[in-house]
Amino acid sequence: MKKRKVCLLILGLLLAAAAAFLLLSRWQLRLELRGEEDCTLEYGEPYREPGAEAVFGGSPLLPALFSPEVRIRGTVDTGATGDYTLEYTAECLWFTAARTRRVHVRDTLPPVITLTEIPGSFTLPGSAYREEGFSAADNADGDLTDRVERREENGVVTYTVTDSSGNSARAERTVRYNDPYPPEIILLGERALTLPYGTAYEEPGYLARDSLDGDLTARVEVTGEVDPGTPGNYTLRYTVEDSWHNGVCARRTVTVEPKPEPKGYVYLTFDDGPSKHTQRLLDILDQYGVKVTFFVVNYGLNDMIGKEAAAGHSIGVHSATHDYYSIYASEEAYFADLDKMNAIIYAQTGACSDIIRFPGGSSNTVSRFNPGIMTRLAGAVEARGYAYFDWNVNSGDAGLTNDPDEIYRNVIEGIQKNEYSVVLMHDSRGYTVDTVERILVWCLENNYALLPLDHDSPTAHHRIGN
Ligand code: ZN
Repeated sequence: MKKRKVCLLILGLLLAAAAAFLLLSRWQLRLELRGEEDCTLEYGEPYREPGAEAVFGGSPLLPALFSPEVRIRGTVDTGATGDYTLEYTAECLWFTAARTRRVHVRDTLPPVITLTEIPGSFTLPGSAYREEGFSAADNADGDLTDRVERREENGVVTYTVTDSSGNSARAERTVRYNDPYPPEIILLGERALTLPYGTAYEEPGYLARDSLDGDLTARVEVTGEVDPGTPGNYTLRYTVEDSWHNGVCARRTVTVEPKPEPKGYVYLTFDDGPSKHTQRLLDILDQYGVKVTFFVVNYGLNDMIGKEAAAGHSIGVHSATHDYYSIYASEEAYFADLDKMNAIIYAQTGACSDIIRFPGGSSNTVSRFNPGIMTRLAGAVEARGYAYFDWNVNSGDAGLTNDPDEIYRNVIEGIQKNEYSVVLMHDSRGYTVDTVERILVWCLENNYALLPLDHDSPTAHHRIGN
């Protein structure tokens, strides 16, 4: 019986030990992390420790008796990117627990590029952009201005920079091109010119240049005209524009002087034509725009009389026959000859002439076979409405000389002695026609007016010798 009690006791102890073991083996210490076990923080963002809690498990009694302390080892520096590990441990009785938390400090923010703009600044077209300024700042790396890469292309400047974490930033600037500088016009010669009357205006020239476009002379527009035949003030305007539409103007004034008073008036008269030389004479006169007077005869080239009149020259009656002995035989004979010639003139020109020149002039002595005839005729022609013309400059081409140089000298010297010169010449003489151009040039260059005769012109009457 005693033996049985012992056995029961042992069995009871064994059971109690087994029960205690079973109870104790279910006790445990756990660490529970608050917050994420693996978290990422932005650079510079403050790290706030969420903490951890040590918890007993398996017994409702133990947590009430013990509150184990949690210790944390390790730090997080958000001022430096990297991976940080925080170790959490707790101890109580013979229990321990440990956990870790991973904290990643990252820089995900790109740098910031700031472009400076200077008000009013610009870039000349074709020139490289002159940097107004820029800076780059990064939250982690600080000033990155030195690491900015610049590239200028097609009028756009691109700025790029990358921070040490590989975050890139990019900025663009559109270049403001402008050309505020107008071109320049340089007038050659005087800005205020004086032009003698009748002298053709010759542009002294000009240059135009632009700081960007270079030589713009060919693009200069000149407006305004100078009429050398009308005295007065004229303005010539020169304008040019560069490729940026900057325009510039220049002006020149030209004063055409008043027409000077001629030194004298010259009436060139040609007797005894038309002849085979007359057409050549008409061509020369036409070339210089000079009008003269033809005292014509009826020698068979009468159609030239029409041409002379059509060219603006004066036609006067000389004689139909130029035969002194018949025309000065009587007044009737003279007027018969005059009427015959004037009828030819009328036929050729559509008008009768009212100016005449006596063959031999009013001072001729060849008519003395009929005493007093010239005196009578001088009165008679004027009574019939004619004006008769002698001459006060004799070219000498009718018998005195056939040397063109001498004829020229005779005319030029004679002209200078008179205010009004009526010059006797003959278009029946080739050598006379040879001198005419030189005489015209001299008169024009020396400001002598060359005019055709009309009824009221100076008559240069001679003293009548019969
Ligand atoms: Zn004659």
